[in-house]
Amino acid sequence: MLDIKSMSMIITGGCTGLGYGMAKQFSEKGARITICGRRPEKVEEAGASLGKNVRAIVADVTKEDDRNKIVKEAINHGKKIDVLVNNAGNMYRGKIDELKEDKLMEIFNSNVVAGMMLLGKVKNYLKESKGVNIFIGSVHNRRAFPGASPYAATKGALETLTKVLAAELGEDKIRVNCVVPGAIFTEINQRAGIYDDETAKKRLDSMARIHAMGRIGKPHEIAEAVEYLICAEWTTGAVLDVDGGLGLGITED
Ligand code: NAD
Repeated sequence: MLDIKSMSMIITGGCTGLGYGMAKQFSEKGARITICGRRPEKVEEAGASLGKNVRAIVADVTKEDDRNKIVKEAINHGKKIDVLVNNAGNMYRGKIDELKEDKLMEIFNSNVVAGMMLLGKVKNYLKESKGVNIFIGSVHNRRAFPGASPYAATKGALETLTKVLAAELGEDKIRVNCVVPGAIFTEINQRAGIYDDETAKKRLDSMARIHAMGRIGKPHEIAEAVEYLICAEWTTGAVLDVDGGLGLGITED
């Protein structure tokens, strides 16, 4: 098993939610982390609270210039790149006959295309470090939520990419894995204007009973799984469900 303490990592969208949880856990263990987000106030807040092992920068992963900036900052900060966690993601919902093409393109761009482009950009650094890319999928590919086809489709694409790119990058000793989180309270739905904080929390709490473990998850429980897949040297192309059993589709008789 590898140890993350001397690693240099990029965690996209790491200023809030699950990415913030990863940045906190990994930086406390000594890793040098570069996180990015689009909102200056969130970036500043995250950077100030996470300490010197974390560099927080304003950058949008859907923009080529910003992707170059992320890589440059990660090299300045960590001197190498061992890990790319393609975590930044957005929600878009709607019935199939109500979807807007520009919004669909936007969510595919942020959730899928941007991560592919960034991985291509850091490939040679990962080759040098025998590193790893982690995609963040979703329980939306285990449970079908009507109206969530855009988001679910992007997350399905990431699972496919995990397999194909693990095969493609194996010759460079780069691993590609995917963590599939279940329900965790973050701001993703609120940012998309779907719920306010209170409604989002209530909705998630009401889902507790359909989890085998009887509750929704916590950000550190996703960070633990990401850390495992970073450190497991013979594990590539793996898709790890971390959802308290929500994806099992437990039915009541
Ligand atoms: P979040 O909204 O707290 O975090 C996502 C972050 O990504 C935000 O800070 C957002 O501003 C940032 N981001 C979005 N687009 C960006 C862009 N173009 N450039 C830079 N940053 C960008 O929500 P979260 O739940 O922590 O989401 C993290 C990942 O986890 C996402 O990929 C999401 O789809 C996935 N996920 C979350 C859950 C859950 O229940 N919270 C479940 C399954 C999967």
